[in-house]
Amino acid sequence: MAADCIFCKIVAGEIPCFKVFEDEDTLAFMDINPVHPGHVLVIPREHYPNVFEVSDEAIAATARTARRVARAVRATLQPDGMNLLQCNGEAAAQSVLHFHMHVLPRAMNDRAALNWPLKPGNMDEIQSLSKRIARAVE
Ligand code: 5GP
Ligand code: ZN
Repeated sequence: MAADCIFCKIVAGEIPCFKVFEDEDTLAFMDINPVHPGHVLVIPREHYPNVFEVSDEAIAATARTARRVARAVRATLQPDGMNLLQCNGEAAAQSVLHFHMHVLPRAMNDRAALNWPLKPGNMDEIQSLSKRIARAVE
């Protein structure tokens, strides 16, 4: 448990949440600032700040729970679509530094800020970056 981490406090039961699912490794609860009704957060019980530090086991468990919850949200609300989303760093809109996935129901043309228009890129640049990134995969 990390000091001053709001999600660790939720795991510990020190702060209340609207729980929808829990297992040995993960917890899923309602986001209290929902983009749409049915917005759920899924977290590993263990504290990791972001995707770069989360363990293989914890990210796998979180993804499994997120899909399970996504199915339940779909069955309950039948949204037009759904994003499973995860943020790292301030520029990527991460505000809580405990690894988490959003299960985010979407409505057609809802203009949620994470939508971007499709604009063809420069293929030379894309290819050259693909090579640099591929070399960096460990
Ligand atoms: P991030 O921007 O870091 O990806 O998402 C953090 C999310 O946690 C936000 O959507 C925010 O609404 C949610 N959140 C922050 N504090 C609390 C809290 O105390 N309880 C719950 N249930 N959600 C929280
Ligand atoms: Zn934490």
